[in-house]
Amino acid sequence: MAENKPFKLAGVMGMPVVQSRSPIIHNHWLKKHGLPGAYGHFPVHIERVEEAIRGLSALGLAGCNITQPHKLVAMKLMDWLHPMAEKIGAINCIVVQPDGSLHGFNNDWYGYIQSLKDARPGWRADAGPITVLGAGGAARAVLFGLVGEGAQEIRLINRTRDKAEALANDFGGRVKVLDWAQRNAALEGCALLANTTNQGMYGQPPLDIALDALPRTALVSDLIYIPLETPLLEAARLRGHQTVNGLGMLLNQAVPAFEAWFGVKPEITPELRQAILATFE
Ligand code: NAP
Repeated sequence: MAENKPFKLAGVMGMPVVQSRSPIIHNHWLKKHGLPGAYGHFPVHIERVEEAIRGLSALGLAGCNITQPHKLVAMKLMDWLHPMAEKIGAINCIVVQPDGSLHGFNNDWYGYIQSLKDARPGWRADAGPITVLGAGGAARAVLFGLVGEGAQEIRLINRTRDKAEALANDFGGRVKVLDWAQRNAALEGCALLANTTNQGMYGQPPLDIALDALPRTALVSDLIYIPLETPLLEAARLRGHQTVNGLGMLLNQAVPAFEAWFGVKPEITPELRQAILATFE
């Protein structure tokens, strides 16, 4: 019975953050399960992140999601880190414990892998070589997910090669770094292309890449979901590729967070997807 349950608050902390669709997801689930609570946007400037995070417990919040540019700073303020968050080196979710301590999680890797499995049931990370473009925070989560799922060969390509080298060092031989100039040729024989750069996002130019060498059976994924179809995904679709945008990652990473805060494992239903798609119209 909802009346007997305490009202719980959570939200997404970042800057800017108003574009985040996370409130739609969590408020949809709260309503669906009849749980008293709310999830909002927490726009916090980088110089006040520490104050804001330390205040979560005092304010009685269940926790929050953390988005850029706060993912690394927030991690340093945690009392406990999930081993996967520790490996990835960033958190995207804080759960306030009953004693007020802060536990940090990274659910992005899970969200990404699950979004591929939702799009292509039976998808396997070892189906063939994988090209990952980008070496920022999201790339770290994607690589951990792909390697954990058994990927055998990942071609990691970033505009700034040094960052890709540093990232690849954490994975041993399965992640090979190539130059940005090799990104078109690297697609030869690949079963998956993952764009983790911000190129193609609203306000950014399209990702500069030619897909000619990519086998048409390859899955093409873009972590971006604003817009829902980036120029990369449009080009891939027109070549006959199956494509996956970043919405599935966003939805799937929200599942374990909601369960940790509100105590119910929610479902990603067509109704929820429709509620989010409606915000793009
Ligand atoms: P980040 O840490 O700032 O990394 C940005 C990446 O983009 C870096 O690899 C950077 O390369 C590359 N880049 C920037 N400008 C470029 C250019 N002109 N040409 C080529 N590469 C360029 O950001 P992030 O947190 O990893 O996020 C990356 C993307 O993933 C964003 O679009 C974000 O919205 C999306 N994302 C989606 C979800 C989801 O749930 N769907 C979750 C997390 C992130 P350099 O190293 O050379 O600067």
